[in-house]
Amino acid sequence: MTSSNSPFRIERRMNDLRFRTVSLAAREQLAPNYVRIRVEGSDLAGFDSPGADDHMRLFFPAEMPDTIEELRAAPSREYTPLFWGDGWLEVEFAVHGDEGVAAPWAATAPLGARIGVGGPRGSAVVTGTPGSWMLVGDETAIPAIRRFAAQISDDAPARIVIEVRGAEDEIAIDAPVDVEWLHRGDAPSGSVLIAFLDSLQTSDAVGEHPFVFIAAEQTIVKPGRALLERWGVDTTQAVVKGYWKRGEAEYHAPH
Ligand SMILES: Cc1cc2nc3c(=O)[nH]c(=O)nc-3n(C[C@H](O)[C@H](O)[C@H](O)COP(=O)(O)OP(=O)(O)OC[C@H]3O[C@@H](n4cnc5c(N)ncnc54)[C@H](O)[C@@H]3O)c2cc1C
Repeated sequence: MTSSNSPFRIERRMNDLRFRTVSLAAREQLAPNYVRIRVEGSDLAGFDSPGADDHMRLFFPAEMPDTIEELRAAPSREYTPLFWGDGWLEVEFAVHGDEGVAAPWAATAPLGARIGVGGPRGSAVVTGTPGSWMLVGDETAIPAIRRFAAQISDDAPARIVIEVRGAEDEIAIDAPVDVEWLHRGDAPSGSVLIAFLDSLQTSDAVGEHPFVFIAAEQTIVKPGRALLERWGVDTTQAVVKGYWKRGEAEYHAPH
């Protein structure tokens, strides 16, 4: 399948790069290791995120500095804007333990704690109407999957497959199809998703002209790309991305 006869395309857009400071206003525990936080601040005026898998950079300074330059030097991590409005923004975090900067902040920072928000700098926007949808990921991809799922029309063939540790980690996701939850138990993150992707044959293609989104621990990329090849999906019509890397802090996914 080539992109020339496709009913949709992924349109790249550049956004004005802005840095904002915000305060933690609320935290909701959606599963034992998964939280939604709400940040607020007048700086969020005009915030927008046109692409469902956009990422912004969240900055975690020990103390809020006076200048943007100092803020940009603070530790930062990439997160998906989920919902936003006038002066508020919601983000969901996979809480993966005590390691790192972002996950511990999301789990334990006191209300009122301040962080910085940079971007999203660029967006990849699905325009037109994919013939079908294949959304695959681990916990870190749930926010992007939520946003893509909101675009699926009721009659489009679709599969949404998410790997989590166990049944207690499943969370409600608004979508026109049931989410297929895979449980890894104590196996390495991504291993069950990889086995799932490897098991899909050409005859398992979700439908005509699929939009494929696959994001999880970085080892997902190779089997994800192999699936695109088996299904004859143009790589420019899909997103296959490592959202984090085992054993590596502050992983930067190639864009
Ligand atoms: C485009 C994009 C969008 C993303 N959106 C989201 C999002 O909306 N929500 C979200 O939760 N994450 C999201 N991520 C993933 C997130 O950026 C990483 O998980 C990040 O490394 C977390 O930062 P940290 O400070 O908690 O841990 P780090 O300091 O980066 O890492 C510390 C240790 O924890 C490990 N680690 C990191 N993440 C995980 C994990 N999920 N499970 C197990 N071990 C882990 C690392 O391998 C390292 O050993 C996104 C990533 C990308 C590239």
